[in-house]
Amino acid sequence: MPSRRDDAFVLTRYPFRERDFVVVLLTRGSGLVRVVARRARTVRSSWASATEPLAQVRVSYFERLGSELATLDEAQLIRSAFNLAADPPAWAAGQVVAELALLYCPPGQRVEPSFRLMERCLTCLFGGHDAAAVAWYAELWFLRLAGVFPELDRCGVCGVELPQGQRTFDPVEKRFVCGHHRPGRAAARISAAGVRWLQLASKLPLEMVSEGAPEDVGAWLVALREGFTERQVRSWRYLRHLLELG
Ligand SMILES: [Zn+2]
Repeated sequence: MPSRRDDAFVLTRYPFRERDFVVVLLTRGSGLVRVVARRARTVRSSWASATEPLAQVRVSYFERLGSELATLDEAQLIRSAFNLAADPPAWAAGQVVAELALLYCPPGQRVEPSFRLMERCLTCLFGGHDAAAVAWYAELWFLRLAGVFPELDRCGVCGVELPQGQRTFDPVEKRFVCGHHRPGRAAARISAAGVRWLQLASKLPLEMVSEGAPEDVGAWLVALREGFTERQVRSWRYLRHLLELG
């Protein structure tokens, strides 16, 4: 029964049996891993903060043959999620990023770029970066890493370079198109401001993306993600609510 050591982010946890948690980790070396934290729900558990969602930890765990669940052996806290909890929009944006990682990362498969994306998003949130910018950047980049983000600056049919300004998207073929290849059926339109945001966020590090996506681009990113993953991200509802208050 070999033990693995790895760096990880806690994506979520849920009660398991009487006194345990199942903790879902995004590890650097093995992607998504589900571990049982024994007795973590008891009052004196030393694992309480290290199994808190959005915590960054160094773990060792045992895998058992034929079991989807590994057993957590050690969890050392590298960065507690505690400070984020004091900033509700940052906390909610962190939850959106964690939920996206859960959707996109396959169990047991190394996905270092996704791990780095998560790391960058959380580091920015801890540094006080705009919460909406972080959440939308994560929406965009998980799509890009999954290879389902369409070519933005060229027509998906003929390859001609598209001019600056608004763009036409064919939602059936999932490609941007030039004026000649506009589909007869309903096409989606992305505003010039939306196109600019997509271009900047595709090119720049998150630290330099100071705003969330314009509304039309946000709706378009969500439709693209839902088409691909067939899932909703429930944490968005809470984040949106907080952003509207802000
Ligand atoms: Zn074309």
